[in-house]
Amino acid sequence: MKRGLSRRARALPPVLAALAAGLAGLAPARLASQAAPQPAGPVIRLSYRALQPGEPILVVLESDGTVRTATATFLGATAELRPAPGGARSFALIGIDVQAKPGPARLTVKLIKAGGLVENVRQDLVVAERAFPSTKLQLKPEYVTPPASALARIKRETELVALAMSVVTPEWLGEGPFALPHDAASWGNFGQRRLNNNVLQSLHAGLDLRVPFGQPIRASNAGAIAVASDLYMGGKTVIIDHGLGVFSSYGHMSELRVKRGERVKKGQTIGLCGSTGRSTGPHLHWSFKILDARVDPEAMLRLPL
Ligand SMILES: [Zn+2]
Repeated sequence: MKRGLSRRARALPPVLAALAAGLAGLAPARLASQAAPQPAGPVIRLSYRALQPGEPILVVLESDGTVRTATATFLGATAELRPAPGGARSFALIGIDVQAKPGPARLTVKLIKAGGLVENVRQDLVVAERAFPSTKLQLKPEYVTPPASALARIKRETELVALAMSVVTPEWLGEGPFALPHDAASWGNFGQRRLNNNVLQSLHAGLDLRVPFGQPIRASNAGAIAVASDLYMGGKTVIIDHGLGVFSSYGHMSELRVKRGERVKKGQTIGLCGSTGRSTGPHLHWSFKILDARVDPEAMLRLPL
């Protein structure tokens, strides 16, 4: 685990806090060190486990009162920073998609201050490579090459789910950090490349948990139910909108216990584990999206929210 760069940042283990700087400059040489005084003006901090495909980044702004609105742009996605619960800080979440190309990438935080003054704070980052596992699966043929009769349904459901997750609720609905939806061990298979019946077909953009059949699945944070439906591929699926473009998804359940539009608390039972849809046995498929970027649920658990 790398070390943070300021006293404030050091208060945030185990997630790396990488950046703390005033607006005077964001070149690495100007970053606050432990010995240096905190810079005047707004302070922007980044927290992340790693700068790699599949990782989320928390952007926090501690304003000095001069900032009216702020946005963070990275890898083509722009997120508006919104007030954090119970404080003077505002924040946004940005994801590095599981299939993002490693290499240099610039993060820009645009601050609009009183009187319309615009300041762009830029930081050049490097997305490092990440090795993902691969596996061979034997599935029922109708899930590898779905019958023509199912293609229209799959297309429709894919579009509806994408539509539901394209709506950005402009406030944070979560309650503190994310939690596991069940205590069962995982297969550690986020990002796994899959050869289905010997055809390279899919990338596993979630994490599978070895939950026994029928056991309750809990909401990993508070939010609003965006989808509660029986999907051809995902089976009985719940998608929770946590606000700010962050969605968690729970698939292959045997029973749904919530309805679309309902508000849920963190830890509330949303369904029971099962093996519906494209599944080889009872388990929970758990996944996250941040503004279209597919990120690792285990990294979401470590965000200091
Ligand atoms: Zn899965």
